[in-house]
Amino acid sequence: MADANVAAAPEAETFAFQAEIAQLMSLIINTFYSNKEIFLRELISNSSDALDKIRYESLTDASKLESGKELFIKIIPNKNDRTLTIIDTGIGMTKADLVNNLGTIAKSGTKAFMEALQAGADISMIGQFGVGFYSAYLVADKVVVISKSNDDEQYRWESNAGGSFTITPDHGEPLGRGTKIILHIKDDQAEYLEESKVKEIVKKHSQFIGYPIKLVVQKEREKELDEDEEETEEEKKEEDGKPEVEDVGEDEDEDKDKEKKKKKKTITEKYLEDEELNKTKPIWTRNADEITPEEYGEFYKSLTNDWEDHLAVKHFSVEGQLEFKALLFIPRRVPFDLFESRKKKNNIKLYVRRVFIMDNCEDIIPEYLNFMKGVVDSEDLPLNISREMLQQNKILKVIRKNLVKKCLELFEELTEDKDNYKKCYEQFSKNLKLGIHEDSQNRKKLSELLRYHTSASGDEQCSLKDYVGRMKENQKHIYYITGESRDQVANSSFVECVKKRGFEVVYMTEPIDEYVVQQLKEFDGKQLVSVTKEGLELPETEEEKKKREEDKTKYENLCKVMKDILDKKVEKVVVSNRLVDSPCCIVTSQYGWTANMERIMKAQALRDTSTMGYMAAKKHLEINPDHPIMDNLRQKAEADKHDKSVKDLVMLLFETALLSSGFGLEDPQIHASRIYRMIKLGLGFDEEEMAVEEDTPASADNDVPPLEGDGEEVSRMEEVD
Ligand code: ADP
Ligand code: MG
Repeated sequence: MADANVAAAPEAETFAFQAEIAQLMSLIINTFYSNKEIFLRELISNSSDALDKIRYESLTDASKLESGKELFIKIIPNKNDRTLTIIDTGIGMTKADLVNNLGTIAKSGTKAFMEALQAGADISMIGQFGVGFYSAYLVADKVVVISKSNDDEQYRWESNAGGSFTITPDHGEPLGRGTKIILHIKDDQAEYLEESKVKEIVKKHSQFIGYPIKLVVQKEREKELDEDEEETEEEKKEEDGKPEVEDVGEDEDEDKDKEKKKKKKTITEKYLEDEELNKTKPIWTRNADEITPEEYGEFYKSLTNDWEDHLAVKHFSVEGQLEFKALLFIPRRVPFDLFESRKKKNNIKLYVRRVFIMDNCEDIIPEYLNFMKGVVDSEDLPLNISREMLQQNKILKVIRKNLVKKCLELFEELTEDKDNYKKCYEQFSKNLKLGIHEDSQNRKKLSELLRYHTSASGDEQCSLKDYVGRMKENQKHIYYITGESRDQVANSSFVECVKKRGFEVVYMTEPIDEYVVQQLKEFDGKQLVSVTKEGLELPETEEEKKKREEDKTKYENLCKVMKDILDKKVEKVVVSNRLVDSPCCIVTSQYGWTANMERIMKAQALRDTSTMGYMAAKKHLEINPDHPIMDNLRQKAEADKHDKSVKDLVMLLFETALLSSGFGLEDPQIHASRIYRMIKLGLGFDEEEMAVEEDTPASADNDVPPLEGDGEEVSRMEEVD
């Protein structure tokens, strides 16, 4: 009521809000919106700005602080008056500032924000459009701003929206310097008068503001009355054994007295006390040498809500053309939803001059590093930057580049601590590998961070650098195999022959490794060569070369016969130089999928069958010229290339090679019946008995009958050219 009188004071001047601002205010007042708490962040942010300004001015003119040396923000909830007051000792506003900044001069953001809202933006983005002040009307129906600048008298701005505000010279309690904002809280927003609510919001949104935020809290204390104190003294005297004579008669009276007094002996007294809410000073602004590991741990936990300490931290600042400070943490664990959530989010909080801006700035760090946690505090970005503007922002691009660089440095440093790096790698190898796939600029650095089991590494994983260090003199390439598990690849016949020649093979057993080798063509100048793909060139002696040429001629006919039989099932049939114990194997073409990749893609239930079509592994059948089975088959085929048993045996060999090379069978039933026939042969069943059964469609026909349902997909896939 008193305020209304002041507003009506003769000195009051009334101003109309600029049209767009008036529109924005009614939008704020009338829009149904539940996340109203952000008003406090905006007002605190304004206070912090104002404090920054006076601090900055005082750098060159210390006398500016004579009007008030202490820089702080104070929040006073008052349930009786239903007001929430925010005071700062910042730069304050002159009368002209109040008129211009709070209502008559619209910023470009005013309109932009309304448009953004229409397009589905969230009110909480208000600060980014430079109109955060008006968010006060989310919770207040009347706002009073009392302000004192060094350059003017104390003035009072007041408005209950509705298109106009008043300005009055203020003769109330002098502020010294700064601004006091009194929010008359709406009836249904009383929760913002609760201490606990205010604490919660400040902790959430303004924890790292660079000035103390003090909340005026109501406390209670037990207070003893003065008489009680006297009495205590008397009691003491008694105990001390003072003369009893005078006291005898009074004793009884005193007892009654005591009872009376005991009842009102103590009273609960209410009093006010300042409680600092943001005690955690921005740790990144401090000197790294002076911060203990425990402090980093505490900060990390408060930042992330993690219950464990971080695994590693990097604290750095960048100076020069662009200035920012940052803290980057590697957590101990992959968050359970790291690869789950579709929406892009990261864990780097962006601050601009200690004011929290956003924690989901998409472009601040690449996706593969989205498990990194931390803060970036830029000196250069404008405070009221919008998300859209950020995306175009050059400063942000430089920040991002630096963050990636520092992350990689941090990993590299961590590699020196074997145990911890192992822990890190267990958790985040997928991310690093994703990085190899995506980040061509840092691919080389990332490739140094990879660790694999190899045919020579034993139980420990090793780096590619270790591998290269162990390479044989005549070895040109880095050999690798991709597959489902370490056991599976270690026992593969592809590995066997390479090992037999004294070369080491890298075991790549994570699905994402297939993507790694798509991009990582070489390491340290050495080409990465798959032992399961065509064209595996192993160093050969002249003798070996000569023998291979001879074998080629010797088996030319059989290769042709086999290709005719297998037809589109294989690209070609060639003599192999990589087999030891197996009669044949299936290798894949240089640019198609490997068996492993085909397995992965099928497991991913890839619905787009067309991709399966052109990417499906192109199979080459390689035969072992030194294997008796092949030699025998060769002779059989030379005798009669239409020999039915040749056809059958070739199919059987092919299917078995598919299995042992890591492929699935298109129709296990057919393969099974072939095997049963072989078993019968082995058991000495005679030809006639078997002929009867040959009439059953599955076993007699080499052409695979089309399968039903989803099997069709598979058979089509197998027959791609
Ligand atoms: P922004 O903070 O993005 O400029 P706001 O709508 O939050 O936009 O504030 C508008 C302007 O009002 C500020 O730029 C500032 O000049 C002035 N202002 C608001 N709050 C304060 C304050 N506590 N002390 C001094 N000036 C203030
Ligand atoms: Mg603001």
